[in-house]
Amino acid sequence: MHKTKSFCRNCGALCSMELTVDDGKIVAVTGDGTASPYGAYLCPKGLASMEFHNGAENRLLGSLKRGPNGDFAEIGAERALDEIAARLKALIAEHGPRSVAVFHGTGAYHNVLAGLLEKSFLAAIGSPNLFSTMTIDQSAKWVTWGRMGTMASGKPSIRDIDLGVIVGNNPLGSHQTMPFAPGECGAPARALAEAKARGMRLIVVDPRRTETARFADLLIQPLPGQDAALFAAIAHILLRDGTCNAAFCARFVTQLDALRRAVAPFTPEFAAELGRLLAEPPDRRFGYRLTVRRVLEAMNSAYLGARRTARKYPVNWVHMHPDDVLKEGIAEGAAIELRSATGRVIGVAKAEDRMRRGVVSMTHMFGTLEPSTDPWTQGGSNAGALTSLERGLEPINFMPRFSGIPIDIRPCDGAGTPS
Ligand code: SF4
Repeated sequence: MHKTKSFCRNCGALCSMELTVDDGKIVAVTGDGTASPYGAYLCPKGLASMEFHNGAENRLLGSLKRGPNGDFAEIGAERALDEIAARLKALIAEHGPRSVAVFHGTGAYHNVLAGLLEKSFLAAIGSPNLFSTMTIDQSAKWVTWGRMGTMASGKPSIRDIDLGVIVGNNPLGSHQTMPFAPGECGAPARALAEAKARGMRLIVVDPRRTETARFADLLIQPLPGQDAALFAAIAHILLRDGTCNAAFCARFVTQLDALRRAVAPFTPEFAAELGRLLAEPPDRRFGYRLTVRRVLEAMNSAYLGARRTARKYPVNWVHMHPDDVLKEGIAEGAAIELRSATGRVIGVAKAEDRMRRGVVSMTHMFGTLEPSTDPWTQGGSNAGALTSLERGLEPINFMPRFSGIPIDIRPCDGAGTPS
């Protein structure tokens, strides 16, 4: 048995680990404070990485090839590469190099060699087509940054921040947003506690009273979709009262007058009225708004098979405010039907007093690809089935909406029959 150093590749925190290896098998994983800028820390995913590595999620350990009848059969790596090379060669000969693209998922960001390899491969064949989760499902971030600009100075360290504002994010669960400078993403509760002790003030904007909100000096709980009006009103007040940083704006901001004109209608009174109007269902068929959330124990679909995750989340609960649960006549743990304008799934209700009334929250990536009818046997409910690929797309990048989706809820039996 021996100990060796490694790091968790599951998220950007890249937490340092010490592994105990016995006869080629990992038998223990601990956080390694000697190699980490934020001390010894592993979240439940890092602790479960031993299970993950040892095969808990039926990871693929070899290459598979799909046969003509749709079944998969094992194929040796060398033969698989030869067959792929022959197919690519024919494709490029017939259609040119741009007919080939590379897509990498979230996990590839934490694999240095994969990043180098994919760019070298594309350069070698002469294709510019590199796609990723950032270009496919998060492209609005880049388009918005391109339109509005961003601070080229990079992200500040939490050690320097006087006032933090966290919007629609829960770093205690996601390890993203804040603390956010390199070497700060791990141990978020510790970092926030230390920053608060130093004097940092924190504003959290989220429809849910998140775990992060326990550090908040101010928690604002807008409805999903209301945040743009909220920030327009804040900009209105800052510009109206001259309380924005004039020296900073003079040096770094262009088109301030255009912003002033754009936010002129967003008086605090108007924003409050807008909030009241948004709180009323725009369509009487759909009285709730759905948001999705992350859980600490899983990262998208990874770690759903880990023991702790499966124990805590046999399904992705449909979280609702207790008063909404009562109002709808739903029993805790009972099956409910969620219906949007374009889809329908069966979920399992769970009361959570952190929710804002009128908002329903589920974790994505659970359930089957087909809309789930029995979450208990299908590993939860596919929240994606409530979105539309054609209607109500995001105006900037034409992506399906994955938050603030108008839905209706009603009790039903486990088979999805309304009761
Ligand atoms: S925060 Fe968790 S998932 Fe992310 S690197 Fe650390 S242990 Fe891994």
